[in-house]
Amino acid sequence: MYDTIIIGAGPGGYLAAERLGHQKKKVLLIEEQYLGGTCLNVGCIPTKTLLNSAKQYVHAREAGKFGVNAANVSFDWAVIQKWKDEVSTKLREGIAGQMKRFGVDVALGRGEIIAPPRGTAPAKVKVTLNKGGTEEHEGRTILVSAGSVPAIPPIPGSKDNPKVVDSTGLLSIGAVPKRLTVIGGGVIGVEFAGLFSSLGTEVTVIEMMDEIIPFMDKEQAPLFRRALTGVNFKLGCKVEKIEGAAVHFTTKAGAAEKADADLILMAVGRRPVLNTWGAEAAGLDLTPKGVSVDDWMRTNIPGIWAAGDVTGKSLLAHSAYRMAEVAVADILTNLDGIGGNSNTARGASNRMRYNAVPWAVYGVTEAAGVGMTEQDAASKGIAILKASLPMKVSGRFVAENTFSGPGAVKVIACAATRRILGVHVVGAYASEFIWGGAALIEQELRIEDVKQLIFPHPTVSELIRDAVWGL
Ligand SMILES: Cc1cc2nc3c(=O)[nH]c(=O)nc-3n(C[C@H](O)[C@H](O)[C@H](O)COP(=O)(O)OP(=O)(O)OC[C@H]3O[C@@H](n4cnc5c(N)ncnc54)[C@H](O)[C@@H]3O)c2cc1C
Repeated sequence: MYDTIIIGAGPGGYLAAERLGHQKKKVLLIEEQYLGGTCLNVGCIPTKTLLNSAKQYVHAREAGKFGVNAANVSFDWAVIQKWKDEVSTKLREGIAGQMKRFGVDVALGRGEIIAPPRGTAPAKVKVTLNKGGTEEHEGRTILVSAGSVPAIPPIPGSKDNPKVVDSTGLLSIGAVPKRLTVIGGGVIGVEFAGLFSSLGTEVTVIEMMDEIIPFMDKEQAPLFRRALTGVNFKLGCKVEKIEGAAVHFTTKAGAAEKADADLILMAVGRRPVLNTWGAEAAGLDLTPKGVSVDDWMRTNIPGIWAAGDVTGKSLLAHSAYRMAEVAVADILTNLDGIGGNSNTARGASNRMRYNAVPWAVYGVTEAAGVGMTEQDAASKGIAILKASLPMKVSGRFVAENTFSGPGAVKVIACAATRRILGVHVVGAYASEFIWGGAALIEQELRIEDVKQLIFPHPTVSELIRDAVWGL
């Protein structure tokens, strides 16, 4: 019998397996497609690999400004694709190695809960193996980390249309399209828009809201949009139908317009995978957003936890990692019989908190943020202090990034407590240093505390410190 059976080997599942294996627990990890899940195979890693090639290409093209001559710069899409696949393969092998190292059993197939754990009776899980046949396993506890898939809205003309692809389809196209229309101006849509426009594609993004990346700070989002110089944004526009590769939409002013392209990316969000792993048989509470969980990643059924995109709480790989860690701490308490079901025994501190989850949008120009935006604070009635500094005052940014457009660092603090509430960045390296903002918020540091921190110079990140002094 296993201590824990994990369904899904994305960031949530494989990290939990590794941590439990490290604690010498007997773990079965079930995966029906590929180790590493969406993130490693069709999400974070392949997009960033392609974006890196695009960045190298733009940098080489612009190198003359820095006194470096690179003549006849071009790219080879087939080689870029090959490199992307090699990166995923290498990392997937790395996960397989880690599972071996920590003694985790891996079953390749579809896992399905056929009976939840009841009292001292273990859970039963059936695996329909990819190689054929089935297996049944018993587990004292279960962690579901079945992830999410692209959401496809019922837009007339989109179903079975070979010109319409989702993010997974777009990652492995055989040739770079001359024209691309992206439906949806969220993170995934904008990253692909930046990628292909950097490679010379004429890109149009159609977004229903008035601004791209709806959760971004309202002062920063337009800045980021303007930095994506090659992309044509149609904001406040509603897609009505698709005919072939033409997207028909209504503008904010009510005019009917059309965007012609060679390919259309549908990037309107993702939905949790709730139908493959026996959620109903297990009696789990589900909402359209995902599996209902508490702050310890417990579901309504004792003995079953859920982590990652399947909960619909925060669809990011690093959120999945943290949710998995929180779930593992609670599973270990449960397995080792410490504390029973009491929240106090589990420890208030080792619970999932969402107030300091950083996010990032990658590309030649980056954007990242953590904590409250100005509009979040206003909606909560919190009086704030704010300071924003343009990237052009950063020596490092000016020296290295003449091609990557405008940018700024904005910091928000609570006027009453003087605690840092939000850090928002548009500009190069944003994704690399936003964790610092998360640390300030998570540790509830005040303006005066941050003023005493020393940042390395010259770095783009030191603008956080300068903005805090500006407060
Ligand atoms: C194009 C794109 C770019 C992204 N970029 C970023 C980024 O830069 N940064 C970031 O933080 N996030 C990014 N994400 C989101 C990130 O990929 C997800 O948040 C993350 O993968 C969630 O991890 P997970 O473990 O919850 O689920 P997943 O990674 O989706 O893994 C779930 C796994 O469960 C398996 N599974 C499902 N049902 C069963 C079953 N019944 N039996 C066995 N196996 C099953 C699936 O095959 C899958 O492998 C991106 C996503 C996409 C699509």
